[in-house]
Amino acid sequence: VREDVPLEITGLSKRYAGSADRYAVRDLSFRVERGQVLGLLGPNGAGKTTTLRMLMGLIAPDSGEIRVFGHVIRPGAPVLSRVGAFVEGAGFLPHLSGRDNLELYWRATGRPEGDAHIEEALEIAGLGDALERAVRTYSQGMRQRLAIAQAMLGLPDLLILDEPTNGLDPPQIREMRDVMIRYAAAGRTVIVSSHLLAEVEQTCTHLVVMDRGELVQAGPVEEITGSGDTVLVGVRGP
Ligand code: ATP
Repeated sequence: VREDVPLEITGLSKRYAGSADRYAVRDLSFRVERGQVLGLLGPNGAGKTTTLRMLMGLIAPDSGEIRVFGHVIRPGAPVLSRVGAFVEGAGFLPHLSGRDNLELYWRATGRPEGDAHIEEALEIAGLGDALERAVRTYSQGMRQRLAIAQAMLGLPDLLILDEPTNGLDPPQIREMRDVMIRYAAAGRTVIVSSHLLAEVEQTCTHLVVMDRGELVQAGPVEEITGSGDTVLVGVRGP
């Protein structure tokens, strides 16, 4: 067991109840090393969200194993403090400032007040003065970044982001990209899902391409984008 490996999944499979013999994720194996920004790429229905929800311990795989820093992940087991996760639709209290929302969340999850890491996470998220404004005045992009900032509180060694660019316009997508690059610069590890290669190819060091629940291709980003392979057709975008 290697406790320095942020993520290793082996033979992961999942079928939802009622979907007969259709696998949402089938026999998926890959490993993420420290300092990598891994893009989990695939068209709608490829199984990205299902995979990430299993990594976060939100749903159980039917078979296979997930190790995060050497620990086996199971639903119901305590979430490792070394992992931060963004899922869409994080709820904020609209009349409180962004900063107050995050501090409330931080204390509600049992962490100490006045942690210096909060400031660093907020700085990486790049919300600037907006942090002091009520969340109800935020644009969609700012809410999204606040949710990312929330996932980054405590500067977890592994940050998992499920489609953080969903619903954002191109300038906001670029800002999100800078946030991820700043976060990973300190040797931290990021896993980010997307259905568009263009959104992640300048951010990611490595890619895992999925389609219909299965791994199609995996490796360093320049190897995959330079391969001229046709597997990326569905995810190349306009
Ligand atoms: P998207 O980009 O649309 O979110 P995805 O790559 O994240 O797609 P998943 O959401 O993991 O893909 O879905 C994989 C497959 O599992 C799809 O066929 C989907 O319809 C099915 N699925 C997802 N969630 C459920 C659920 N709760 N119950 C039944 N089937 C589900």
